[in-house]
Amino acid sequence: LNVQYQKRKKLLDSIFLSIKSTKRFHKSRLEPVINTWFNLARDQTWIFTDDDDPELNRKTNGHIINTHCPSTHYRQALCCKMSAEFDTFMKSQKSWFCHFDDDNYVNVPALLDLLSKYDHKEDWYLGKPSLKSPIKIPHPDNKSEEISFWFATGGAGFCLSRALATRMSPVASGGKFTDLCDSIQLPDDVTMGYIAGHLLGRNLTVIPQFHSHFETMRFMDMKNPHPEITFSYVRYADDSLNVLEIDGFSEEEDPTRFRSLHCLLFPNFSFCPNSKR
Ligand code: UDP
Ligand code: MN
Repeated sequence: LNVQYQKRKKLLDSIFLSIKSTKRFHKSRLEPVINTWFNLARDQTWIFTDDDDPELNRKTNGHIINTHCPSTHYRQALCCKMSAEFDTFMKSQKSWFCHFDDDNYVNVPALLDLLSKYDHKEDWYLGKPSLKSPIKIPHPDNKSEEISFWFATGGAGFCLSRALATRMSPVASGGKFTDLCDSIQLPDDVTMGYIAGHLLGRNLTVIPQFHSHFETMRFMDMKNPHPEITFSYVRYADDSLNVLEIDGFSEEEDPTRFRSLHCLLFPNFSFCPNSKR
């Protein structure tokens, strides 16, 4: 049992988890994250945002990184943050880079189960596309030609092995990622797919257990949520919600459903009603 535990701890320590956020979501989105799954990977998870937040920085033991990127939803700002995430991973000694949005719940043990099946010394791009076919864009150097590739939706989370990230780094590190986003005019997650799939010829490996809010959350099988790796939620412009349908805390207490989900997965967690601790 102890050997098993040591192995899991070692694997967890080899992962760099990053969360993309922005100032105006610190309260509404980061609070539910920091109160729940973040606690299962406190030393391995870093939050990339665009402002200082001493209170949050204290709560996360100094894991808030102010990228000084613009706080907008435009491509440049999002690519700037992804660029910072990638560079920070490259500077670390970690074997895996896993990116998430701040509206993701990450089932940490399920993520470990996944990564234990892959070798970080090989090229791996793990994630889930939201499109039904590869994206087609004009060839950046020859507009009469078309190229196509799959990309993992950033809002479902994705992981890159150290080996692949190292191969990507000549075009992606030291701020070059942002330049590339600009030159091909694609969002950050699409640019990742462009580099891995098109430039390096390493296709996305589809992981069905990653879930963004492009999927209907109430269709998720909550009797058996354990193998699922990520979850999400969204409130649409008309105020309708796409959230997990799950018993637990009230909607007022837990609008994202993350606390209820956390208690379903880890019933002994301190704030859970059935906690035996
Ligand atoms: N985000 C950001 N700056 C913004 C808006 C959003 O960094 O001005 C981040 C946000 O924190 C999240 C991701 O970008 O991690 C996706 O944002 P959101 O969920 O609002 O939009 P989506 O792309 O999922 O529709
Ligand atoms: Mn989102």
